[in-house]
Amino acid sequence: MIIIMHSHVTDEEVHTVEQKLQSLGLEANVSRGLERTIIGAIGDERKIHKKTLQALPGVQDVIRVLKPYKIVAREGHEADTVINIKGIPLGGQTIQVIGGPCSVETQEQMDAAAHGVAHAGCRLMRGGAFKPRTSPYSFQGKGVEGLQIFRQAADKFQLPIITELMDVRYLDDFLKYGVEVIQIGTRNMQNFDLLKEVGKTHTPVILKRGLCATISEWLMSAEYIAAGGNHNIILCERGVRSFEKAYRNMLDVTAIPVLKKETHLPVIVDPSHAAGKAWLVSTLSKAAIAAGADGLLVEMHPHPCDAWCDADQALTPDELKNLMGELQGIAQAVGRSL
Ligand code: PEP
Ligand code: MN
Repeated sequence: MIIIMHSHVTDEEVHTVEQKLQSLGLEANVSRGLERTIIGAIGDERKIHKKTLQALPGVQDVIRVLKPYKIVAREGHEADTVINIKGIPLGGQTIQVIGGPCSVETQEQMDAAAHGVAHAGCRLMRGGAFKPRTSPYSFQGKGVEGLQIFRQAADKFQLPIITELMDVRYLDDFLKYGVEVIQIGTRNMQNFDLLKEVGKTHTPVILKRGLCATISEWLMSAEYIAAGGNHNIILCERGVRSFEKAYRNMLDVTAIPVLKKETHLPVIVDPSHAAGKAWLVSTLSKAAIAAGADGLLVEMHPHPCDAWCDADQALTPDELKNLMGELQGIAQAVGRSL
């Protein structure tokens, strides 16, 4: 941490900063220039809030040198993390496409969806049993019964399941039904108590980006999970809020290479919730793979017109299969396989 003092700083003010740093367990290195006095704080600065120092008299600015996140940072962990989901690697050379409906509706719907996912060549399946809906009057998900339906459908095709946890009270049910990947949705990216609880498990977690979260805030949320001991974290870019109304959310493709530089964790993209329209999903998927994403989370419904949730953005089973074909060439061009 570097502390820049005001130009007319007094010895007493410099001394106060030195004492404060020492009380926080850091060493102070004072450098007096002709125009400026700069104090270097030596030690682990992560536990110190900038504001603690900024409030001291004579301090003009405080600049961090270390990233506020530690376990998830690429710094000190060069190699890409590859997450093993029941033998299926996510984060390595192979790109994984996770397909499935927005929500679990009926056994017939989930059986048909699982067939479509497996037939398209996807190795992992998604589906929400608990749905975070904007309106309290919209379908809220089947709940625990949905987990059972999902498990039964996916097991017929040996597909590991990904489903969203919104409330920690259902974590035991998730573990009981052997949910292979817990999704923390956009609206809960900063639900720190929820993050801490999934951090105590070893179940892989997909952490979606908050509606207007910065990359740093997102990585700090990942750090919450990692700090509890669960390092099996997958980041999912799903578009951020913008002024544009022509599509649902603005897919931040730039976030992919930035995350790859900042963290060793796998990065996937959800083109469906970014687009909000099925016709856009293929283009966004290609852009994501070209930009270095390790996988995709794609909504597919056996009969999109009948979907209880997010009907406009669901691909048909045939469209998902076609998408897998289209992505082969892009994957190859970036040295990956599908
Ligand atoms: C979902 O994937 O089902 C979902 C609700 O997504 P998001 O949290 O990105 O809105
Ligand atoms: Mn959805």
